[in-house]
Amino acid sequence: MDLNSFVGNETVRFELSQAMQSDNFPHALIIDGAAGTGKKTLARIIARYCVCLAEEHKPCGHCAGCIKALHHSHPDICIVDGKASGTLTIDSVRRLRSDAYIMPHEAPKKVYLLLDCDKMQPVAQNALLKILEEPPKNVVFVITVTSANLLLLTVRSRSRIYTLYPPAPGQAADYLASVFPDKTKDELLSAAALADGNIGTAIRNLESGSEEAKALADEILLAVTDKREYNLLVLTSRLSASREFAAGVLDFLIEDAGECIRASAGLPTELQAARVTVEKLSPKRIYRLAETIGRARDVLKTNVNLNFFSTWFCAVLRA
Ligand SMILES: [Zn+2]
Repeated sequence: MDLNSFVGNETVRFELSQAMQSDNFPHALIIDGAAGTGKKTLARIIARYCVCLAEEHKPCGHCAGCIKALHHSHPDICIVDGKASGTLTIDSVRRLRSDAYIMPHEAPKKVYLLLDCDKMQPVAQNALLKILEEPPKNVVFVITVTSANLLLLTVRSRSRIYTLYPPAPGQAADYLASVFPDKTKDELLSAAALADGNIGTAIRNLESGSEEAKALADEILLAVTDKREYNLLVLTSRLSASREFAAGVLDFLIEDAGECIRASAGLPTELQAARVTVEKLSPKRIYRLAETIGRARDVLKTNVNLNFFSTWFCAVLRA
């Protein structure tokens, strides 16, 4: 992954690629921006640039330096994660300071990634400042933080600041397509829009959302055959969380209903909820259930009120 594969943020990419091609790459960089905007991804690209052994077009992605970096095993890349307790303390910064004066093992530059520095204490920042004021040759520091204003002015003034913003939903959706090849363009666009283009948030939502939706779909199917009506009402009420979530649950329910139809025809099924449904409902009732779910999916595409929809859906599933 090089700078071109980084989504959006054209200005930052342009400035960084200019710096990478010049002879005076900054020795201290601050990457700031909201969570999920790609600060760590960019920091790792810069780390690969520092250890790449190619003559030009760094990071090349295939030299020994890049390969080791990609496998997180490069001796000249030191990562300190501020989220872990006991890191970025004054002692750890002092250790880092003495280490920084040792020549790189094998790379042209040695690089320190100081990640999530939001809570870095001023005393530790002052210790870091000492080294930023008199930087050893061939050492690069990359600091990531949600806002550069959380760092001391003296640290900021010694560093070059690159601010990341969420990309436009279209750009974000294109990137998400490479992570979720099975999702439709519409699903990815709505996930990107829902997360305001923030890639990290969209990925988290898509991952957790689909697992949660699948689990809820299976529970709803089981509850249809359950005599206690209250149970189904509680489960369907969770559909009012969001239109995307409800649509996801309905899509899984359509798959589940198909599984029930196949199971009622005597085909084997892995789905426990389908086995229970086939035992308790007649094939005719199962067909009707599948039709109802399909109709509900169409209703959801209209501008229906979600609270009304979830109550109505509970009623028609029971019918
Ligand atoms: Zn390389």
